[in-house]
Amino acid sequence: MSTSPIKEVKPDDPELIEVIDLYQKRDKIYTRAFKGIYRNFRIIGGAVLFILYFGTVWLPWGDRQAILFDLPARQFHIFGITFWPQDLMLLSALLIICAFGLFFITVLAGRIWCGYTCPQSVFTWVFMWAEKITEGDRNKRMKLDKTEMGFNKFRRKFLKHTIWLFVSLATGITFVGYFTPINELVADLAYGAANPWAYFWVAFFALATYGNAGWLREQVCIYMCPYARFQSVMFDENTLIVSYDPHRGESRGPRKRGSDYQAKGLGDCIDCQMCVQVCPTGIDIRDGLQYECIGCAACIDACDNIMEKMNYPKGLIRYTTENSLAGKATKILRPSLIGYLSALLIVSGFFSYTLLTRVPVTLEISRDRNTLYNETSRGTIENVYMLKIGNMDQHDHPFKITISGVPGMKLTEDTEVVVPTGEVKMVPVRLELSPDKITSRNMTFHFKVVSQDGEHLAATQESRFIAPTDPVRLK
Ligand code: SF4
Ligand code: SF4
Repeated sequence: MSTSPIKEVKPDDPELIEVIDLYQKRDKIYTRAFKGIYRNFRIIGGAVLFILYFGTVWLPWGDRQAILFDLPARQFHIFGITFWPQDLMLLSALLIICAFGLFFITVLAGRIWCGYTCPQSVFTWVFMWAEKITEGDRNKRMKLDKTEMGFNKFRRKFLKHTIWLFVSLATGITFVGYFTPINELVADLAYGAANPWAYFWVAFFALATYGNAGWLREQVCIYMCPYARFQSVMFDENTLIVSYDPHRGESRGPRKRGSDYQAKGLGDCIDCQMCVQVCPTGIDIRDGLQYECIGCAACIDACDNIMEKMNYPKGLIRYTTENSLAGKATKILRPSLIGYLSALLIVSGFFSYTLLTRVPVTLEISRDRNTLYNETSRGTIENVYMLKIGNMDQHDHPFKITISGVPGMKLTEDTEVVVPTGEVKMVPVRLELSPDKITSRNMTFHFKVVSQDGEHLAATQESRFIAPTDPVRLK
């Protein structure tokens, strides 16, 4: 039996009760401005995306804007190509390409998408830039937030929010402009004549931009982004990550420039905290790989600047792999990477082939359901069909309807029809066949529609001609 003294525990002993609040209050992050090569890459990447996002919607292409998702007409116009609901396969393939592209790049280079091209990151960097030019760099902003509201503080905050709102509003209008012609949209919005839904969606996307990039920032990446939740399963020891090299950096500590720090047992990290102060998610990369890290490389730039000032080699924080940090060889080609790349190439090949061989004409055929066949006064057998000819091209086209496959089969109607761009025309068609040409009760033949204006657009469909069971009876 134990002889240890037993301590009486009371449930309300304040020393033993730890209150855990599941809601963690956000500590505002004041990022420091910095310069560096990765920052330049990000500016170039962000600028290209901004130009694409804000530019393509204004770019005229034929008689409409370059990209227009016309939902009421169920047509997507992308640089002169019109996609219809029938092209759902292409759209699905495009989404699969994006997904495999993202998986491939994540296995290869970690969260490079997050740091450089994710709209949340790009807009956040733009909003941070607006913050810097209106309120100053990190220390000034911290000081400003501690002071009472006065003219200077109000003026700076007002200016910052004005720029934020301006960018947000432009973003909202542009987004809606992808779904409704932007020229008309802007004019209607300005004169108060737009559809109430247009106001709603502009306000919605403007507020979403303002809230996400202005206020929520890293919280979107840490708590809300689904990609952040599952991307870690794609990481392995050979994935490129932003990492601090503890073998080189430790032990960290301040020292004088040019001093023999190694003699004092110090590594290359001078513990200046610059890498922490530039981090948009407020983490310390020296604590190792963390799910909050969006791979933006701001800490690499900041640390490289310090290394340069200290006359140490750059790269104390760098893009590397866990294997490389552990002194092992990095294996680039590995099964997961090859798998994603193969899937990406296969789906991209299918997408490109389908897009390149796609003919913007559709032909659907339905037989008259009420009568299998008619016997005409001329003694021939007649079948009636309804042809649906869709013109998905950018221009109107005159089409000629022809048939092939059964000798002696004739069209009894006018076989030329003009189908305007973006429309589907229903054309009733009668076919007749002399009884002595009937070889079976159910004969296979083909309908073909061919454009007559030299553009060589054509579509073919198989159909059936139904005849009496005993055609000889009619002879
Ligand atoms: S910026 Fe570099 S030197 Fe400064 S604390 Fe971070 S790792 Fe150390
Ligand atoms: S740790 Fe470095 S790479 Fe990761 S988010 Fe912070 S600054 Fe960007």
